Amino acid sequence: MALDLRINKYADVPMEEKQRLFDEVTRDERFEEYLYGCYECGICVASCPSARFYDFSPRRIAQAVAREDVDLVYTLMNDSIWDCSQCFSCDRCPRKNSPGGLITIMREVAVNNGLSSAQEALEGYGRIVYKIMGTGTQVSPDMLQPNAFPDWGPHVKDISDNLDIWRRALPPETLHTTETGWQVDDKTIIELYLIWHMTGVMNMIQEVDEGLYEILVDVMEERLEEEGYDVTFD
Ligand code: SF4
Ligand code: SF4
Repeated sequence: MALDLRINKYADVPMEEKQRLFDEVTRDERFEEYLYGCYECGICVASCPSARFYDFSPRRIAQAVAREDVDLVYTLMNDSIWDCSQCFSCDRCPRKNSPGGLITIMREVAVNNGLSSAQEALEGYGRIVYKIMGTGTQVSPDMLQPNAFPDWGPHVKDISDNLDIWRRALPPETLHTTETGWQVDDKTIIELYLIWHMTGVMNMIQEVDEGLYEILVDVMEERLEEEGYDVTFD
């Protein structure tokens, strides 16, 4: 759906709230390195894969933030930033901006504040997040099932129906089967759990998906307790 910026979809959101989120973005310690002003040259748009497929523009993001257009930044934070694929091709900006970096900050602010757009954008990834954070390792090929990721579209069924053939086409032998995956040793998984706890990652998960948070906390607390750690997540 086209993003019509002439209509302020969020006119009923108080300006103080929009300003608060904008300030949270600009207060981030990475912000100064990601925005120096904008020539409006469009080089970032030309290099952006998402701009080819969506009504999305890294230039729009950089300009809105540079002009301190608090209203527009709020709209983009809800309706646009989730279309970015975080490839950072836009870092070739001649002004040394990083629209992708700005988007990273905006996403974090959206998640930390539990914006419903963030919850919706991340809804389809709960199983992936659970798998990666629960085991500390990758999404395994056997997870590619149509009923696991309905939002990935009908082509997933075609792939899953012929998964054996697809796997054999991949050079690494570990991907020829669902039996093997990278093993994560005990020390590493405990470190990962502690890092996610201490750096606020778990708080971010809680803001966007309470159910997923509860499941992860159960898994992590049990494992940490087994290893002699007394960690409380709430
Ligand atoms: S490449 Fe840089 S200067 Fe050019 S439009 Fe994009 S953000 Fe602005
Ligand atoms: S990081 Fe995002 S905005 Fe930048 S080029 Fe990649 S998809 Fe486009």
